[in-house]
Amino acid sequence: MAPINQIQVAVIGGGVVGCAVTLALARRGVAVALLEAEAGLGLAASGTNSGILHTGFDSTMDELETELILASGALREPLLDALGIPVLRCGALMTARDPAQAEGIRAVAASARRNDIPVAVREDGALEIPGEAVTDPVAYTVAVAAEAERHGAALHVSARVDAIERDAPAGLRLRTESGLVIRCAVAVNCAGLHADRVARLVGDDSFSIYPRKGEFLVFDAPAGEPLERILVPLPSRRTKGVLVFPTIDGKVIAGPTAVDLEDKRDWSVRPGARAEIVAKAAVLYPPLADAEPLFSYAGLRPAGRGVNYLIGAAPPCPALIHVAAIRSTGLTASLGIAERVTQLVEAAGVPLGAEAALKGGAAPQHDAPWWRRTAEYRAGVAA
Ligand SMILES: Cc1cc2nc3c(=O)[nH]c(=O)nc-3n(C[C@H](O)[C@H](O)[C@H](O)COP(=O)(O)OP(=O)(O)OC[C@H]3O[C@@H](n4cnc5c(N)ncnc54)[C@H](O)[C@@H]3O)c2cc1C
Repeated sequence: MAPINQIQVAVIGGGVVGCAVTLALARRGVAVALLEAEAGLGLAASGTNSGILHTGFDSTMDELETELILASGALREPLLDALGIPVLRCGALMTARDPAQAEGIRAVAASARRNDIPVAVREDGALEIPGEAVTDPVAYTVAVAAEAERHGAALHVSARVDAIERDAPAGLRLRTESGLVIRCAVAVNCAGLHADRVARLVGDDSFSIYPRKGEFLVFDAPAGEPLERILVPLPSRRTKGVLVFPTIDGKVIAGPTAVDLEDKRDWSVRPGARAEIVAKAAVLYPPLADAEPLFSYAGLRPAGRGVNYLIGAAPPCPALIHVAAIRSTGLTASLGIAERVTQLVEAAGVPLGAEAALKGGAAPQHDAPWWRRTAEYRAGVAA
C-alpha cells in the first residue's frame, strides 16, 4: 500500500492558478500540497500564453473575472518585487483603423474609466493604456510555487490525480497515477483543461471544458529595434484578437489566434496560422510583414462551455472546490482568484491563520526561453 500523506488541502494542477492558490493557503499556515500531472509546473496554458498582466481596461463591469483582475492588480506589485519576477512595464496602444473603430475605442475608454483604469485617447483616436505590462509567465508561475514551498507547501510533479474518494468521517482521499495517496479535508480543482475530468471523479458532470487554441509567432526584433509597447487591436466579445508584444528577452511575439477544438492534446501550430497571424499583426506593426519567425507555439485556453470563471464547491461533493474555465486572463487574475479560494476553503471548515509576510528568495531559473519550453515539452511527450 502506498504511503498516505495527511494534509489539510490538496491543490490539483500546477498552472499559475494552482500555484497562486497554494501560496495563498501556505501563507495562512494551511498544510497544503500541490499535485501536478506533468513533469514540471506551468506546462499547459500557463506556459503558452501572451504573458500580459492586464489592467482590466477592457473588462466588463460586474463580472467575476473583472472583479478578480482588479483585485489582483492591488496585490501584484509586492509579489513581483519580493520574488524577483521579471516585468516590462511598457504599456499598450490600441489604434483605430477607421471611424467605426474610433467609436469602438471611445467605448473601451469609457469602460476603462468605469473600472478606474487610467487611459488616454489621443488626437488620432488611438488609446494609450500605460498600466499594461508583460512578464515571463513561466518565471511567474514557478516563482509563486517556490514561495509556496518556502511557506511549507509540498510540491509534487508527475502526480496526476486519477481517483477521489470520500474519506470517513469527513474529507477526501486522492490517488495519483504515480501511486501517491493523499488524505485531505478539502481539495481544490485547478486542473485547467482537465478540470471537467477531475469533477467527474466525484460524479460532477455539471460543466465541460474545451480547448480554444491560440497560436503565436516569435520574431527577433525587426532591424534590432526592441518593440516599445504592446500593440493591440479593438477587441471583439469573443477574443482580444491578434496582438504584437515585446518579451522580457527582447523578442517580438505576434498572436494569438482563437480556434475552438475538441482534442485536448493538440498543441500543434496549424500550417495556415502563419499567414493568418502575419496579416493581422502587420497592420499593427508593419515590420512584421516581411520578417521570418524564429519559432511558433500554441496554447490551449481552458474554455468552459457556456461558463467562465467557475469558482465554487462541487454540488455533489462540497469538499472539492472547482476553479475551472479560467480561459483568457488567469495569469493576470491568479492572485485575486487565490484570495477568493482561501475564503471558500475556510468556509469548508479549514481554519486559516494570519497571512505571513512574503519571504522572497532567488528566482528559480528555467533553461529554455518560456515561449519555447512548453512547445518542446509537448513535442517530446507526443514523440
Ligand atoms: C493563447 C493564450 C493566450 C493567453 N494570454 C493571456 C495573457 O496575456 N494574460 C493572462 O492573464 N492570461 C492569458 N491567458 C490565459 C491564461 O494562460 C490562463 O487563464 C491560465 O494559464 C489558466 O491557468 P490554470 O492554472 O487554470 O490552467 P493551466 O495552466 O492549464 O494549468 C492546469 C494544470 O493542471 C494540470 N492537471 C490537469 N489534470 C490534472 C490532474 N488530474 N492531476 C494533476 N494535475 C492536473 C495540468 O497539467 C496543468 O499543469 C492566455 C491563454 C492562452 C492559451
